[in-house]
Amino acid sequence: MQRLFPGIEQDFLGVGAILIDATNDAFWFQNGGYLAPSASDLNGVCLSRPQLEAVVRSRVLRLPNVTINAGVTVLGLTRAENRSVGGVTLDRGEGAETLTADLVVDASGRGSRTPAWLAQLGYRPPAVSEVKVNMAYATRTYRRSPGDLDGGHLLLVAPQAPHQKRGAVLAAQEGNRWMVTLTGMLGDHPPVDDAGLLAFARSLPTQDIYDIIAHAEPLSDIVPYRYPSSLRHHYERLSAFPEGVVVIGDAICSFNPIFGQGMTVASLEAQALQDSLEGGLQELWKRFFRRAAKRIDIAWTLAASADLAFPETLGTRGPAVKPINAYIARLLQVARHDPGLTVAFHQVSNLIKPPSSLFSPNILWRVGSGSIRGVSPHLNREPCVPLAAAGASRDVSL
Ligand SMILES: Cc1cc2nc3c(=O)[nH]c(=O)nc-3n(C[C@H](O)[C@H](O)[C@H](O)COP(=O)(O)OP(=O)(O)OC[C@H]3O[C@@H](n4cnc5c(N)ncnc54)[C@H](O)[C@@H]3O)c2cc1C
Repeated sequence: MQRLFPGIEQDFLGVGAILIDATNDAFWFQNGGYLAPSASDLNGVCLSRPQLEAVVRSRVLRLPNVTINAGVTVLGLTRAENRSVGGVTLDRGEGAETLTADLVVDASGRGSRTPAWLAQLGYRPPAVSEVKVNMAYATRTYRRSPGDLDGGHLLLVAPQAPHQKRGAVLAAQEGNRWMVTLTGMLGDHPPVDDAGLLAFARSLPTQDIYDIIAHAEPLSDIVPYRYPSSLRHHYERLSAFPEGVVVIGDAICSFNPIFGQGMTVASLEAQALQDSLEGGLQELWKRFFRRAAKRIDIAWTLAASADLAFPETLGTRGPAVKPINAYIARLLQVARHDPGLTVAFHQVSNLIKPPSSLFSPNILWRVGSGSIRGVSPHLNREPCVPLAAAGASRDVSL
């Protein structure tokens, strides 16, 4: 986002966002223990989604060539010469009308109708990969007290195959609030009543979120959300596609939201579109879908591999899924005592570095030779260990 909107971090901070070091102010609990914290240059901002969207929208509106038509439903693509697309039909509440365009970008999200519209135009729709996670969320905001979470701002309890289907996120937001989201995969869904929510939080493998919300003042209702599956449309595999239209964001690929990747991948795709437009509109779709697929591949592999580690998850398992999951599980266990591995893991999970960086000789050696010692399931904020003291190099090998 910063690349697309330089300085947007300051805009976020201006509406109350909290700047954090993602490996030192954020705690990650998985497989029975916390990853060792470490200072790093992986910064993030904590703020509510409505505020984030309001800031992005105001930045988009400041672009001199952008007009937003709100309250409009797009009904379909219109055909131009040579089977290409020449615009859209839409409805502003007064019946269908046509809007012509040199290029239509379908950013209509997970429910995109482009696959159906392609069939209407005489094209084959893309193949679809699906990973069925049957996930549900229950989210509530609470008042945040200064001493909560030892002054930290984010705590994530990750599900752990094969049995731990429950997870949670506790995230600081503007206005001294906590947002708490309890998550349950594969039908193990969180309840949406007061007592049920607390009982679910208490059943997590660490009590640290329960200890906060059991005493904090609720500021909202409990809001449920259902997410059946991660969906990827393989537009990059098509050999025929109309000129004049591309698809972007969740309309190409929507990920299990627990991994928090969707907006980052959508931003990377926007950059891929910008780069592809330098070659003009002719065969733009071919260049763009290939570039976008490279960005999507990484996030999809990370999310799908973790979800497919659960035997009940429905989806296609490649031969590498099992060994990769076993390696990552060990890496996370060693990372409880090796802050350098925490940083290496977060660089990949935040899409800063490719997954291959977790297989560099230095990391392989540390994962292989590191000890797995017992850990406390409670947050114990030890003094942060600088990377140098942990024997890690901040650039080349991590
Ligand atoms: C519960 C949850 C939590 C998430 N948390 C994170 C997170 O922490 N970090 C992260 O990076 N990502 C997260 N994501 C993913 C992120 O929200 C999506 O990846 C991102 O919103 C995708 O943006 P998009 O513009 O492609 O689609 P959307 O945000 O879905 O926007 C599509 C828009 O198109 C409009 N639309 C649809 N059809 C039409 C039509 N026919 N005519 C006109 N308009 C239409 C819709 O109304 C909507 O406004 C989360 C997702 C969920 C569901």
